[in-house]
Amino acid sequence: MPDPAAPLAEVFLSLQGEGPWVGVPQLFVRVRGCDLTCRYCDSAAARALTGAASFCPAGCVPFTTPNPVPLGDLLTVLDAWRPTQPLHSLALTGGEPLLYPEFVLALGAALRERGLPLYLETAGHLSAALAQVLPVVDYFALDFKLPHTLAEPVPVELFAESARLTAGREAFVKIVVTDQTPEAELAQAARLLAEISPPPLVILQPVTGRSAAGGPPEPGQLLAWQRLASERLPDVRVIPQCHKLLGLR
Ligand code: SF4
Repeated sequence: MPDPAAPLAEVFLSLQGEGPWVGVPQLFVRVRGCDLTCRYCDSAAARALTGAASFCPAGCVPFTTPNPVPLGDLLTVLDAWRPTQPLHSLALTGGEPLLYPEFVLALGAALRERGLPLYLETAGHLSAALAQVLPVVDYFALDFKLPHTLAEPVPVELFAESARLTAGREAFVKIVVTDQTPEAELAQAARLLAEISPPPLVILQPVTGRSAAGGPPEPGQLLAWQRLASERLPDVRVIPQCHKLLGLR
C-alpha cells in the first residue's frame, strides 16, 4: 500500500489551549494549506503550501524536513518522542487537515494500532471529508465561522452539517466572537446548532488580539452572548485561547 503524505508546517509537543480539553498534553501536527479566509487567522505560515516541515522535540535540537512528509516518517518521529512525554492524544491541526482525508484516515488507523487517540481540529466546512474520516477520529474540535470573521464567507449550513455528523461523539463547536460580532449571526448559529440531536457543546471563544474581524469583546458582552446562545443550547461556555495566555504555542 502507498505511504500517504501531506504537507506539514510543524510538529511539536505542547498543551491543548482551546475548548473543554484545555491543558491536556498533545503532540501537535500542523498541516499546510487552507481554503478559508479567517480575518483573525493566527496560522498564516501554515496556510502557505510552500516551505519545509519543522520538527521541535522537547529538549532536543529542532530540525526541518522537505514536504510533503510521508506518514511513515511522521510515525517514526512519534514513536521516538512519545516515551519522553505522556500524551493525551495527537492533535491534527492546520491549516485545514480535511484537505487530506486519505492522510487523516491512514494516520488515524496507525494511531489506533498504537493506542493513541486522534484529536482533529477542523474548520468544519468540509463535511464530506469529515464523514470519510469519522471512524478513526476520537475527538472533534469543530468551528462555526460567523460570516463577519471571514473575508470570503461560506454558507453557515456547512458548519452545522459537520456538527450534525459528530452529534453524540466527543466533540465541541467553537465560535470565535469579537467586539464586532453581529447578534444576528450568533443567533443564527445557535438556532442551526440547536436543531441537532443531541445539540453540541458550544464554546464561545473571544478573539485573541485585534484583527480585521474586530478585537476582544468586553466581559459584559461575552455574558450577554452566552445568555443569548443558552436560550437555545444546553451547554455554552466561554473559554479563551489559554495557550496564548501561557505563552505556549
Ligand atoms: S481555518 Fe484556520 S488556518 Fe484557515 S484561515 Fe481560518 S484560522 Fe487560518
